[in-house]
Amino acid sequence: MDLSVAVIRERITAVERQVEMWTQDPVDLVVVTKTHPAEVVRAVAEAGACMIGENYAQEVRDKAGAIDDVRSAGVEVQFIGQLQTNKVRMIAGLVDCVASVDRASLIDEIAKRMAGARIHLQVNATGEPSKGGCIPEAVPQLIQRSRDLGLDVEGLMTVGPTSGAQQQTREAFRRVRELAMLHKLRVRNFGMSGDLQLAVEEGSTMVRIGSAILGSRN
Ligand SMILES: *Cc1c(COP(=O)(O)O)cnc(C)c1O
Repeated sequence: MDLSVAVIRERITAVERQVEMWTQDPVDLVVVTKTHPAEVVRAVAEAGACMIGENYAQEVRDKAGAIDDVRSAGVEVQFIGQLQTNKVRMIAGLVDCVASVDRASLIDEIAKRMAGARIHLQVNATGEPSKGGCIPEAVPQLIQRSRDLGLDVEGLMTVGPTSGAQQQTREAFRRVRELAMLHKLRVRNFGMSGDLQLAVEEGSTMVRIGSAILGSRN
């Protein structure tokens, strides 16, 4: 696949147009650059993306040069992958927001290494054991703990069910939307290439799109 800036720009525009067909509310787009090399990070920024998403701490470190450059140009970098506590140190200073915060020990470590950081709490709304995210019932305590330690809880993040089944996907997103609204959290971060429409219809305010813009990953 040809990942020229022009192609990436076209695909970003295509995703934005689709989103506009499904909602009149603003939806932020995070372009997920995981597994793509540093040149792609730069190309995505040049194509006009405002936010990029990365999944692996080691990869963030490996691409630190490109990440620093695009952040200097105003692009926000969001960490969206499962994060081991001992890897927080590796991403501190390289990301603007951690969207995959799902447990007390991780909150404590982020508060220690990334004082005042912006975070999203990840919720496992499907009950699948393989997925990251806290149980929905833990959200109030995790919000409180984060705030007590000075973190800025912007919103909730979730990943739809692996099955992709429409009804389950809608229910998972709806549950997270309701939780975010209950706790007056502004950002509802859900929706990927495969469930973009369902996510937008269920009230996402931030979608994370990789393959629909950058093609399949190796
Ligand atoms: C990889 C990934 C995405 C992007 O997935 P696509 O299906 O390529 O759009 C979004 N969110 C998370 C948490 C991911 O790991």
